[in-house]
Amino acid sequence: MSAVRLVLLGRQGAGKGTQATRLSEHYGAPHISTGDMFRAAVADGTELGQRAAEIMDRGDLVPDEITIGIVRERLAKDDVRSQGVLLDGFPRNVTQAAELEGLAAPIGGLHAVVNIDVPLDEVRERMRQRGRGDDTDEAIDRRLELYERETEPLIEFYRGRDLLVTVDGLGTMDEVFDRLVAAVDEVKGRS
Ligand code: AMP
Repeated sequence: MSAVRLVLLGRQGAGKGTQATRLSEHYGAPHISTGDMFRAAVADGTELGQRAAEIMDRGDLVPDEITIGIVRERLAKDDVRSQGVLLDGFPRNVTQAAELEGLAAPIGGLHAVVNIDVPLDEVRERMRQRGRGDDTDEAIDRRLELYERETEPLIEFYRGRDLLVTVDGLGTMDEVFDRLVAAVDEVKGRS
């Protein structure tokens, strides 16, 4: 199968990161997670990391020009052209999504935007149990609120472009993964 180019959407705690890693292995496409890139920059103590650390701890979004800049650089690498891409955590708002259209066009555009759907109560509980360093109750609430306000509108944005695929995110990791692969294969089969 030729290179697949996908965006994964889903509330924090929907299992997006885990599924992105597995899909990336399954399709041989690089997994690009802006959250992972920012966490790496924080760990390395780079200038970007120092700016991002405080913002991430609050559960706020890193400014668009910074985020779009790192994604633009990453998408320009050869592996994306030859092996495709699994975008996880980007885009997070309509500005980023509009920018992504321009960045994805030269590499063939997106095949699908897959929304892993998990109800709010369920993700809240999952995130509390996950207990990552930046998962304070305040940060969790802030991220979920930002998701509803900034990221949810992308569902309509991509529905309008006929790219949206919704997959039920409840069940075991394997069940959700199988649903994702079935959905992506169907879309790829049509393209
Ligand atoms: P994540 O691992 O995707 O939950 O991202 C962790 C944190 O990194 C977020 O809470 C944001 O502070 C920041 N971040 C990740 N992706 C983006 C993005 N596309 N735009 C702005 N900030 C982001």
